[in-house]
Amino acid sequence: PYDVLVVGGGPAGAAAAIYAARKGIRTGVVAERFGGQVLDTMAIENFISVEHTEGPKLAAALEQHVRHYDVDVMNLQRADALVPASTPEGLVEVKLANGASLKSKSVILSTGARWRQMNVPGEEQYRNKGVAYCPHCDGPLFKGKRVAVVGGGNSGAEAAIDLAGIVSHVTLLEFDGKLRADEVLQRKLRSLPNVTVHVNAQTTEVTGDGNKVTGLVYKDRVGGDSHRVELEGIFVQIGLLPNTEWLKGTVALTPRGEIVIDDRGQTSVPGVFAAGDATTVPYKQIVIAMGAGSTAALGAFDHLIRTSAP
Ligand code: FAD
Repeated sequence: PYDVLVVGGGPAGAAAAIYAARKGIRTGVVAERFGGQVLDTMAIENFISVEHTEGPKLAAALEQHVRHYDVDVMNLQRADALVPASTPEGLVEVKLANGASLKSKSVILSTGARWRQMNVPGEEQYRNKGVAYCPHCDGPLFKGKRVAVVGGGNSGAEAAIDLAGIVSHVTLLEFDGKLRADEVLQRKLRSLPNVTVHVNAQTTEVTGDGNKVTGLVYKDRVGGDSHRVELEGIFVQIGLLPNTEWLKGTVALTPRGEIVIDDRGQTSVPGVFAAGDATTVPYKQIVIAMGAGSTAALGAFDHLIRTSAP
């Protein structure tokens, strides 16, 4: 069996694997797609100490760093069930979609999350070419330009307030008849001269010139007519979905599906730790996921030295 089995090969999982392997203990990583969300990212300018890098380049560096240690990397494998240990010293089991089963004294869950998409024409084509999902990451790329934020919940309102300080104008589009964001955020939004809010607005298309976004089209759900907004960027803020469907019923999750962890990454199941975008950690970012992965590995190591026979 493994001492530490990491499920997920994004920044959190890579950090966890490196921290575990450096303790000289038997470490494995199972990943559906090693690199995670970083693979889908173009410019990364907030990976501290590296002014600029690109997603695929960072993903390759993550894998190379992990493989520098004696870690079993099982890429292109999806976990589909977790079976808790039957005793405190027992083994936790991770079942894979291919029918295999892996056993480990401790497990670190770092399966990340995915942004909910609008699923309208143009969104996929212009992803990273004007269509963005992370204001902390890509906001500065739109300095002085016009953007839209799609989604009027707390993340949409926060994104609009954040972006209003960087870009020239923000159009916030909410599908529903009213914003769902906290009142304090709505008040702040209304006080900003360069933010326009449209409710009952259903985004129906992202338009572009073949290379980049030039606008969007939304339908007024009350009047029924369509409107075009000329702009350079669109931030989609309609939800971040944790990849935790396979853990329902075994590990405590929040109503939004985030794995509940304590400040050492411990979940509700003994010997099972978690890190990164799949968890309740506030703010979903690469450096934060890496820090959390390191914390979870050290938490797991602490657990091992307290429960394993010498
Ligand atoms: P992820 O990166 O999501 O990795 C999850 C891993 O788990 C993957 O290997 C996945 O294949 C695997 N997995 C999922 N389910 C299973 C399963 N059942 N079995 C096995 N493996 C599984 N952050 C920044 O800091 N700066 C940026 O500039 C930036 N830009 C971004 C741009 C885009 C387009 C996106 C989508 C995100 C961006 N982010 C950025 C956010 C950043 O990518 C995430 O915060 C970070 O990748 C989270 O790391 P993670 O390891 O928790 O999860």
